[in-house]
Amino acid sequence: MRGRDWDDEDEDEAAPSPSGNAHEEERALKELRTVYQRADTAYAPFSCPASGECCQLATTRRQPWLWWPEWLLLARRHPLPPPRADGGCPYLDAAGRRCTVYADRPFGCRTFFCDRIQGPARQPAETVNALLVRLERLSERLLPSLKGPRPLLDWHAEAFARKGKTRP
Ligand code: SF4
Repeated sequence: MRGRDWDDEDEDEAAPSPSGNAHEEERALKELRTVYQRADTAYAPFSCPASGECCQLATTRRQPWLWWPEWLLLARRHPLPPPRADGGCPYLDAAGRRCTVYADRPFGCRTFFCDRIQGPARQPAETVNALLVRLERLSERLLPSLKGPRPLLDWHAEAFARKGKTRP
């Protein structure tokens, strides 16, 4: 079992449960992991230089968009980090090179394709699209009011503000 860390007490504040149904959420997170595994399998023939450049969100002006279960997984399993001064993803390590939530990184991070990636000429677009549909349905089941994915920095900023309000 994971030891207590500085942010454990804030996990529910980072991801308050809209359904109030812990069992349903656990089921959704299990299915989410299956979706992630399928995406990883689809991208297994490709290799990434792992420079961390695509995680410099302010520089690239791009960021992953997450459905609710994706944010829920991050918020439940990892301490909520502060924003980075350089505008990079808050889940980067201190050096700004490595993802600290790699095993739980969002779908968009798993399937992002930069021009330095190496492998087959054709991307697994059909698989990615089918998995995206599955992800959307999964999110709709858990949080019907959410009509689309949201940028990672929006989820993070909202959770961070909520955390600030709950601290003395
Ligand atoms: S979650 Fe990880 S892989 Fe995705 S942008 Fe952030 S640091 Fe990069």
